[in-house]
Amino acid sequence: MKARSAILHTMGAKAPYAVSKPLKIEEIELEAPGEGEVLVEVRASGLCHSDLSVINGNRPRPVPMAIGHESAGIVREVGQGVRDFAPGDHVVMVFVPSCGDCAPCVDARPALCEPGAVANGKGTLLSGERRIKLNGEYINHHIGVSAFSDYVVVSRRSLVKIEKDLPFEIAALFGCAVLTGVGAVINTAKATPGSTVAVIGLGGIGLNSILAADTIGASRIVAIDILDDKLELAKSLGATDAFNALSDRVVERIKEATKGGVDFVLETAGSVKALELAYNITKRGGTTVTAGLAHPSHNLSIQQVSLVAEERTIKGSYIGSCVPKRDVPKYIELYKRGKLPVEKLMSGTIGFDKLNEAFDVLDSGHTMRQVLLPHA
Ligand SMILES: [Zn+2]
Ligand SMILES: [Zn+2]
Repeated sequence: MKARSAILHTMGAKAPYAVSKPLKIEEIELEAPGEGEVLVEVRASGLCHSDLSVINGNRPRPVPMAIGHESAGIVREVGQGVRDFAPGDHVVMVFVPSCGDCAPCVDARPALCEPGAVANGKGTLLSGERRIKLNGEYINHHIGVSAFSDYVVVSRRSLVKIEKDLPFEIAALFGCAVLTGVGAVINTAKATPGSTVAVIGLGGIGLNSILAADTIGASRIVAIDILDDKLELAKSLGATDAFNALSDRVVERIKEATKGGVDFVLETAGSVKALELAYNITKRGGTTVTAGLAHPSHNLSIQQVSLVAEERTIKGSYIGSCVPKRDVPKYIELYKRGKLPVEKLMSGTIGFDKLNEAFDVLDSGHTMRQVLLPHA
């Protein structure tokens, strides 16, 4: 069938993207879903910082590629052997397909699925196949999703079924920002009620971490960013303290405010400076979690003895260490009870015509979640 999709032909475009226009909206030929695959009508797709990292080349992926990875939609057709989804089902897409059989999958760590990582690296679906053609040639899928499209073919292993009463623009956020931000607090950090939590970097993921810290009953929630408007926003979402990372004596002031440091510190900015700050404000015996994607050439330097003498822990968190089939429905229930008010993180919706400009807005940092409605 014919479909419409945002295609990235080359990485490394310079801002402003409204001028360089790295994404071209093109007509593609979508093949029918193969065995274990599903045709989904995309209803809403969030714009995430890691899309921008592919566009500007910080996170290299094979091009040309149909880009986007945070999405929700409706199943329209299922391929051979698909019994767990049927036409009409509402689904959230998850950007690492999990095979269910490899060692990490068996160990309940599907974010680390080995065949999933191979497929994502190559730009194929989990089957190893590509289903998108542009001008008669196969092009790459973006981490098994390719969300900035009106229709997509994905592996059933990239999907989680959801109830039909959730608006799609909210549902989409559960595929990346919510899973990553909330999961980092609950699954990776395992932050406990009454503990102190700090979040560095208040984008879509960091703000979800703030909501999660409030939900689990953290006693102090420290928000840290370099933009003052983000700090104000974090306070309105439950942060008890806010610090500009560039302000004087920031480490000392945070340590004073938290009586010696923070129990669980989450870094979501994807920069070495942010992770150093995160480590420096973590309490003795505390845990530092990094969920931001830094450039592959960047290395962290820390005082080795502090890990031993202060029993410190540093952990990485990918997709919030989530099991999507378990955690997406759980977090949606929390949302419905008003415990995870992710609708407060929506900045607005756009059509394909505003997609390049929307990445300028994302790049400025002065936004939360912009959502593409591909049928608008
Ligand atoms: Zn994302
Ligand atoms: Zn696996």
